[in-house]
Amino acid sequence: MADASPSPDDTEEAAGLRKIIHVDMDAFFASVEQRDNPELQGKPVAVGGSGGRGVVAAASYEARRFGVKSAMPSVTAKRLCPDLIFVRHRFDAYKEASRQIRAIFEHHTPHVEPLSLDEAFLDVTEDRLGIGSATRIAELIRQEIRAKTRLTASAGVSYNKFLAKLASDQNKPDGVCVIRPGQGADFVAALPIRRFHGVGPKAEQKMKRLGIETGADLAAKDIEFLRANFGSFADYLYRAARGIDLRPVRAHRQRKSVGGERTFSDDISSGAQLRETLDNIVDIVWERVENAKARGRTVTLKMKFTDFQLMTRAKSVTHWVEDKTEFARLGRELLEEALPLPMPIRLMGLTLSNLDHGKDEPERPADSAQLSLL
Ligand SMILES: [Mg+2]
Repeated sequence: MADASPSPDDTEEAAGLRKIIHVDMDAFFASVEQRDNPELQGKPVAVGGSGGRGVVAAASYEARRFGVKSAMPSVTAKRLCPDLIFVRHRFDAYKEASRQIRAIFEHHTPHVEPLSLDEAFLDVTEDRLGIGSATRIAELIRQEIRAKTRLTASAGVSYNKFLAKLASDQNKPDGVCVIRPGQGADFVAALPIRRFHGVGPKAEQKMKRLGIETGADLAAKDIEFLRANFGSFADYLYRAARGIDLRPVRAHRQRKSVGGERTFSDDISSGAQLRETLDNIVDIVWERVENAKARGRTVTLKMKFTDFQLMTRAKSVTHWVEDKTEFARLGRELLEEALPLPMPIRLMGLTLSNLDHGKDEPERPADSAQLSLL
């Protein structure tokens, strides 16, 4: 059984040569609120509802000093920090900041794997601007984020995702940490095991019972021991304890459709209202199509009736839908074919699918108006 350990292979060698940055915004939601409302600056702030069932979605560093954490019941947070100021979340503001930081990442590399609105892995083994140094790129990105958003980010730089994520947490807020090739195992050895990504409170308890408190303790256990106690988690733990992680950065999966929908406070049924609503949705969705730089061939109209029955109708064209006018016309045709409706609707949605993200243009047929009903 001695050779049952996961052994290095070709991919592992390749993985060792990667340059990975993990960027993580500092107290993101709370920082956006403090930025946009000067009265909150320097004060303990929690984003979330203060009511009985409220939960803290994010806490400023001033609040964290009192032990306030995200996912904590607001009642508990208030008890720990009586001066805590609760503010309602504004997701549009967070999404806008997220969009700005994403653009900064993509300026440097196409290999961006977002983990949430405020966090992403970047593979800069080959960077677009030819800067070469991952540490330098991380510093530039932090500067660009500060200049564009007036928010701070922390960054971890290393040769794999596991280490880069550990590193970004090391010097928070507004800090950088670099773990160079050869330093990973030592860095991990000193860590308490709860810092290992994927080790939750339950796994931590179990490890402590088994005498595993640090990365070094974990590295001292052989693979059979780990498999016997942690099953399929064992191989990951075995590698992580040695600072090894083979997972590649996976760029965000391209979406399959772009769409939007509206739910009405009052059900609607008149043709005029339906057409006006559709025009509205067309405006919103086409903007999203342009932002996504997507092109598609299929338009789908969805309507939910007051009895919650769903109706969808779709049309495909043989070319990429040309522009907003054509998109609106196809949507309108789908609606007109469905009229008159058997009963009022409570929701309408429109999507463009069968997407392409900017590769080869199909041959445009002579009869471009030819439609096929799906
Ligand atoms: Mg963060």
